[in-house]
Amino acid sequence: MQRLPEIVRRNRRVIMSITAIVILPSAVLCFLAFRAVRTENVQQQFQQRQRQRQIALVLEAELKKWLFSGGQDGAISQALLRFHISGEQIVFPSLAISIPPGKDVRPVPFSSPDSPVQDQRTIEEIYYPRIQAFLRDLKSSRNSGAQYFRRLKAMVVQIPATNEGYVLSSTNLTHYSQRKLDELTAPETFRATFLLDESRDAGLASAEAISLDDFTFFQIGFGSKEAGRFDVRKNFLLYAIVLLTLITISAVVFVYRGMAQEMAMTQLRADFVSAVSHEFRTPLSSMLALLERLELGRVVEPGMQQRYYQALRQEAHRLGLLVEKLLDFAQLEEDKKKFSFERLQLSRIIDEAVKVFKESAFHQRIEQACVGMDTAINVVADRTAIVQCVQNLIENALKYSPPDVKVLARYGMKNGTPFIEVIDQGIGIPVGDREKIFEKFYRAENARASNVQGTGIGLTLVKRIMEIHGGSVGVTSTPGQGSCFSLMFSNTKDALE
Ligand code: ADP
Repeated sequence: MQRLPEIVRRNRRVIMSITAIVILPSAVLCFLAFRAVRTENVQQQFQQRQRQRQIALVLEAELKKWLFSGGQDGAISQALLRFHISGEQIVFPSLAISIPPGKDVRPVPFSSPDSPVQDQRTIEEIYYPRIQAFLRDLKSSRNSGAQYFRRLKAMVVQIPATNEGYVLSSTNLTHYSQRKLDELTAPETFRATFLLDESRDAGLASAEAISLDDFTFFQIGFGSKEAGRFDVRKNFLLYAIVLLTLITISAVVFVYRGMAQEMAMTQLRADFVSAVSHEFRTPLSSMLALLERLELGRVVEPGMQQRYYQALRQEAHRLGLLVEKLLDFAQLEEDKKKFSFERLQLSRIIDEAVKVFKESAFHQRIEQACVGMDTAINVVADRTAIVQCVQNLIENALKYSPPDVKVLARYGMKNGTPFIEVIDQGIGIPVGDREKIFEKFYRAENARASNVQGTGIGLTLVKRIMEIHGGSVGVTSTPGQGSCFSLMFSNTKDALE
């Protein structure tokens, strides 16, 4: 993998295009999304506040109807205590008492306003003074016919146009109001809480609270519903930014990988060109040297001359093989290579591949064998192509092994599949390179380090040819100990009969 500054330097134009095509539009989109969402949020907040005010007005109207109607459905039916005003006296019918005006009684603490008021003393000490104060305020228009008493935890109400009045506990009042609020806010994205004076003290008041006009001792607190937090619209900006960031990162990673791969490929191609030049140069130089000596008449002895001609022949043969390999590679790359399939014996294929090395010094090192008893195993294949595959494997086995160590080419059947194996005791292939050596131009680190010449196309050829034959090529290897390349053929019935 190339280093980052190198990649940036070489791909400046592409990076600028990516910035123009992906990064800038993403940033603009983020900005626009941010603005759109902010405007929409302001509008939404405004509309929400309007709806909250309407709800407060509706609740106030409902409360008035309920508190002052005096009918069966009215709050009076839930009264703790009823009273009526007769002349200057306040009469409590349930206790059959009436209290004349001006009685000076001191209130005493009262713990549970919800328990029914039963005794005269409670009336005299707790309720009566407040009802009197309430009536006084009513006369001077300082209350609107209903007043909440904190210490009483109850409300005193006078039904208009009658002398009837009653006391309502805060629990009943809160219960009714909250039920109404829940009904009113059911379709909304916010919730409303009914707050009395004492609940505000308990810290329940919210910054968004709205007071009722005629009942200033009540408030409605507003807050968002739990589900609102996951509202897609509300979090749109966040989602948009996350999405755009992901798109940008993926684009950058994608392009970076593409550029790095492209550069690696360019490097491989450059290596390939120099490797091919090398492969040509070596036999050419030795041929030139041999020819020079012959021309100068320095080799006079006939036996020696014969050896020189043989060496020239070997080098020319080597060049011929290389040219053939390159041409085959080019044809396969362009899908132009023609195949003609025929029935072939595996043993013959190996014979022909080994024969190619007859002219070379390597010939002595090649051993042949058959695994098992079945000597006549047939496959359907293109003769030249398959022979070239085996020949490539043998050439590699020879190249990547010590000079005097033998290599073995053998064939047989494994689980009903015909195979050819080429085994050596050479440098082996590192685990990380075993897949890559079949890619074009790829050469393993240890092969390059040991200065063995090669082009990196031999195994690519083998793999493509085997795929075209419906078979495959595989390798097992132990670095430093050797490798075994196997060609597995498709066992078509036709080939095996
Ligand atoms: P090359 O011309 O480099 O040999 P190939 O495509 O035939 O190209 O092989 C690709 C690479 O696979 C080689 O460069 C080498 O690293 C590795 N390789 C192939 N055969 C052998 C082998 N028998 N032993 C060790 N390494 C091998």
